[in-house]
Amino acid sequence: MQINRCYLDLKDSYLFATIAKKVNAYQSANPNAKIIRLGIGDVTLPLCKEVITALHEAVEEMSVKETFRGYGPDDQGYPFLKDAIREYYVGHNVTLSNEEIFVSDGAKSDLGNILDIFSKDNVVLIPDPVYPVYVDTNVMDGRKVLFMDANEENGFLPLPDKKVKADLIYLCSPNNPTGAVYNRQQLKEWVDYANEQNAVILFDAAYECFIQDKTLPRSIYEIDGAKNCAIEFCSFSKMAGFTGTRCGYTVVPNELVRDGISLKNLWLRRQTTKFNGVAYIVQKGAAAVFTPEGQKQIKENLGYYMANARTIAAAMREMGIWFTGGEHSPYIWLKCPNNMKSWDFFDLLLEKANVVGTPGAGFGKNGEGFFRLTAFGDKQNTSEAVERIKKLLTSI
Ligand code: PLP
Repeated sequence: MQINRCYLDLKDSYLFATIAKKVNAYQSANPNAKIIRLGIGDVTLPLCKEVITALHEAVEEMSVKETFRGYGPDDQGYPFLKDAIREYYVGHNVTLSNEEIFVSDGAKSDLGNILDIFSKDNVVLIPDPVYPVYVDTNVMDGRKVLFMDANEENGFLPLPDKKVKADLIYLCSPNNPTGAVYNRQQLKEWVDYANEQNAVILFDAAYECFIQDKTLPRSIYEIDGAKNCAIEFCSFSKMAGFTGTRCGYTVVPNELVRDGISLKNLWLRRQTTKFNGVAYIVQKGAAAVFTPEGQKQIKENLGYYMANARTIAAAMREMGIWFTGGEHSPYIWLKCPNNMKSWDFFDLLLEKANVVGTPGAGFGKNGEGFFRLTAFGDKQNTSEAVERIKKLLTSI
């Protein structure tokens, strides 16, 4: 018997565990310190009323023989939710058919599971710094990973290098951890490169709903040629507070064919074999996100987070600190002052301002010297944290 030894190649993920350990140690030694956490990547506002009502109604339906539901439809999502998602895309000038939409329990599962349909011989191109799931899921399969540098020079938005040959390309826009967003022209460069190389782009749009500027693309399918080369991953987690409720969707266009095979058909085969669908109750809750009232209510929550992002971004501008994000993203990615290293800056903020953030070094080598603050916290706490940071940084 042999285990999958590729798992032994994974780097231990110490980032959030180390943060928790340091914060707990500091709190034990300083029990009166009021620590504010701006490191969290989880939402804090509750599900909106429209979603809650839909969830309750669905629970009631499950209690009555005539409306009870067992297994969901084989084609990965109830029509009422797929119709709502399809309509949402029409709002971004993207036309999809229901068969191209696959409802799931979230983007993380789909980002990992999609690799089942690709050969382990494929070469993967991943930006650095990055959401660690892209790297780890490929290491688990033993795929060769190439990194592309995201850095201050390119605004943390790397563009294709024609000399590099890759089969699978990960793009995340708006980006976690950097908050940077690709514009249409930049995404077009990626789409053209992928089509030329016969590569496939795995486009993570988990944060599309934070885009404020209508001229920025919220879906890669807004770009000509993308349906021939891209799979898009979306999530209700950050859009509507579903991090604990679990729902997302992946789009695999009809046009996407490699090796003469439809990737949509392969993904359907993979999902129908290994996944029995998302709870009816949860899908009902997710569909409520797209009603006019649901949209209004989630926009209030998104607005709350974006106001926090603006508060943090304004403080960075005031202090003359270089940063990306905060405008179309809940993440602010800042350059540590005085050329400090990420973890040194973490310790300084914890000890001298009692504020917790995430050291950029935890997201890849290019994250060293940078730091991530998030807008998912409480409004008052965010303002207080920002004041403390300003006071500290103007005194050093
Ligand atoms: N993609 C990115 C870039 C994320 O930051 C996250 C969560 O933080 C996910 C995907 C996971 O989303 P989900 O909760 O739908 O699994």
